[in-house]
Amino acid sequence: MSINSDLNVVFVLGGPGVGKGTQCSKLVKDFKFKHLSAGDLLRAEQVAEGSQFRDIIKQHIKDGTIVPQEITIALLRQAIVNNQHEYKNFLIDGFPRKLDQAITFEETVMKAKLTLFFDCTKEVMLNRLMERSKTSGREDDNIESIEKRFDTFVNTSMPVIEYLDTERHIVKKIDCTKSVEEIYTNVKKALEGII
Ligand code: ADP
Ligand code: AMP
Repeated sequence: MSINSDLNVVFVLGGPGVGKGTQCSKLVKDFKFKHLSAGDLLRAEQVAEGSQFRDIIKQHIKDGTIVPQEITIALLRQAIVNNQHEYKNFLIDGFPRKLDQAITFEETVMKAKLTLFFDCTKEVMLNRLMERSKTSGREDDNIESIEKRFDTFVNTSMPVIEYLDTERHIVKKIDCTKSVEEIYTNVKKALEGII
């Protein structure tokens, strides 16, 4: 099925544990956004009965590496198709994380209106992830996987943010060292025109 061209797609990017999911949940409560987390979609596919991608996804998540774009984009595309009749505004959280994904998605699915770049120090992200690990039950919320995820973020995902900034001019940077509420105020400001 084709994608409506009048949807608003917002990429939500930033390092592991920076608070992407937290801010997206707040937006969903207050505004009519569909929140699609690439990580959540991949975790669901990892346990989906009959999926041929279970093992490959599991290995990438454990290693903190990038799941091949064919899998991730197909999942996102399907989720957009399933929701486009009900929603006009989409938060695509944790995607694109590699340059090929950014280019393929914008060529074959749709162009993003905006990118929220959540910026934070590694130390703060590490503290947040270690706190989350007490309750998240996530296989990758352990120090070994976390270090690998940081490496992937710096080496593979930061160049995507630079590309979206310098080539596409759609990046708004948000300081995420602050409190959830202070960040949320700035997130809403950055989304003016969409919300
Ligand atoms: P991400 O989706 O970017 O991986 P999360 O939204 O899951 O990050 O946040 C990681 C952890 O940090 C969670 O336990 C969350 O409750 C906490 N957290 C999120 N934002 C803040 C903040 N501004 N200050 C303190 N803790 C936060
Ligand atoms: P997250 O839930 O965003 O912390 O992502 C958890 C893991 O899922 C990452 O470390 C990757 O292994 C995988 N993942 C999440 N988003 C993507 C993406 N856009 N492309 C490829 N792999 C991803």
